[in-house]
Amino acid sequence: KTGLMWFRRDLRTQDNAALFYALKHSEQLHCVFVFDKTILDALPNKADRRVEFIWESCAELKQTLQAAGGDLHLVHDNAEQAIPALARQLKVQAVFANKDYEPAAKQRDDTVRTTLGEAGIELHLFKDQTIFEESEVLTQAGGVFSVFTPYKNACLKKLDRFHLTPYPSEHRLASLAKHPESLPFPGLEDMGFERTNLLSLLKPGMSGAQATFDDFLGRIDKYKEKRDFPAVRGVSYLSVHMRFGTLSIRTAASAAYDRYQAHGSEGAMGWLNELIWRDFYFQIIHHRPDAATQAFKPEYDQIQWESGPQAEKMFQAWCEGNTGFPIVDAAMRQLNQTGFQHNRLRMVTASFLTKDLGIDWRWGERYFAEHLNDFDLSANNGGWQWAASSGCDAQPYFRIFNPYSQSEKFDGEGKFIRKYCPELAKLNNKQIHNPAACTPMELQMAGVELGKTYPRPVVEHDEARKKTLLRYEVVKKKA
Ligand code: FAD
Repeated sequence: KTGLMWFRRDLRTQDNAALFYALKHSEQLHCVFVFDKTILDALPNKADRRVEFIWESCAELKQTLQAAGGDLHLVHDNAEQAIPALARQLKVQAVFANKDYEPAAKQRDDTVRTTLGEAGIELHLFKDQTIFEESEVLTQAGGVFSVFTPYKNACLKKLDRFHLTPYPSEHRLASLAKHPESLPFPGLEDMGFERTNLLSLLKPGMSGAQATFDDFLGRIDKYKEKRDFPAVRGVSYLSVHMRFGTLSIRTAASAAYDRYQAHGSEGAMGWLNELIWRDFYFQIIHHRPDAATQAFKPEYDQIQWESGPQAEKMFQAWCEGNTGFPIVDAAMRQLNQTGFQHNRLRMVTASFLTKDLGIDWRWGERYFAEHLNDFDLSANNGGWQWAASSGCDAQPYFRIFNPYSQSEKFDGEGKFIRKYCPELAKLNNKQIHNPAACTPMELQMAGVELGKTYPRPVVEHDEARKKTLLRYEVVKKKA
């Protein structure tokens, strides 16, 4: 039997469910990755770190497959047509891939399945991205969980080593179809993309994932204490690897699970908790694909968000990190310069956009989708709707983050702010959170000129807060 392994967001040979089954059921296995024009052509920025991350990870994957005697077809085309065309050309009986739960991906897979079916070729999809998927974890009444804590408790009750057993795909590579000559590899430039600063920020591919993971395992026990402070190396920085599957969820979750079982590590349990949040949002988007564009709680779509030129100006200031709120500005500049934003800051900036500027969460969601290296529709949508209070298990609408106290609490010494807003570096640890509250003398001594070297606050937080409570009145009656 001849098969075709279609790599998507699982760019690794180790512990890969579809690859394992593909190798098991094929005497000759071909492999492919499609640089999908449908996705790439819609990207507004041609210097896109994600495309470069994928490209680099594919280069490593190709090398690994070649070292085992196989190769990777790299196709720059529309996946819906390219996969059936390649499958026919290679005369395969079956195509293997790992499941994707995003609405557009599910639609693409349905189309591919139909086209393949017309040629008598099967499409086999496997669970690989998540610990539990779809309807594997339901309420006692058989419903979908929409509150995290009971979902997590049900997951933990069900979870054992069996669910985390790796698929030894990397030990079966002998069935790869042989390619005496290397298959072509389109360059980034050939696809209309440019190099970015990605490689100075992180290491892509399976080797990058392993190095990042090893580094984190040395710090995992302290995760719970350190995870909320953006200036501290407390989190794993693995999200981009989880996104593109250069690290397997089973590898990640089992390390945390075993550490908790063996040593009762609270840090490991805290981290496992975050991986379960990831699963939680996948199952939400699977069951509620409408939430990708609409409020999860429909009454929240009645909110009148700010619009028009003034709102657009405010939005621009937020995007660029020029709001006059140092913690928000530092966070947005981190995102723009690196493609990463710390989780605490994602909560702060999302809350600021929706509840201080009164701007529709969908604007912020789109901006994050364009700029985050780890952009994932389910987690991003979940995070934004959480901040806007319209999502499942979201912040109550009347809980409005105070950007100044968030800053004092989580960046007390202003280290993070100083890194991304160097123009404020000379303000002391108290002043740096709110330069507009400094006296003219204090500002002068620190070389800060409000409105010139650093913007004045675009809104007054207490007033914005009152306006938001009024704006959310429409849902109050129904909440
Ligand atoms: P760690 O703290 O080390 O967590 C480990 C892993 O758990 C992460 O890599 C990620 O895969 C998962 N995870 C952690 N927190 C969450 C969460 N709240 N929801 C879902 N998964 C989580 N995460 C994304 O992966 N992609 C996104 O597009 C995304 N957008 C977000 C938007 C907003 C407004 C908010 C509030 C959160 C968003 N998150 C998103 C969740 C979270 O901020 C990132 O996963 C985390 O900051 C990544 O850093 P890390 O890998 O060091 O995380």
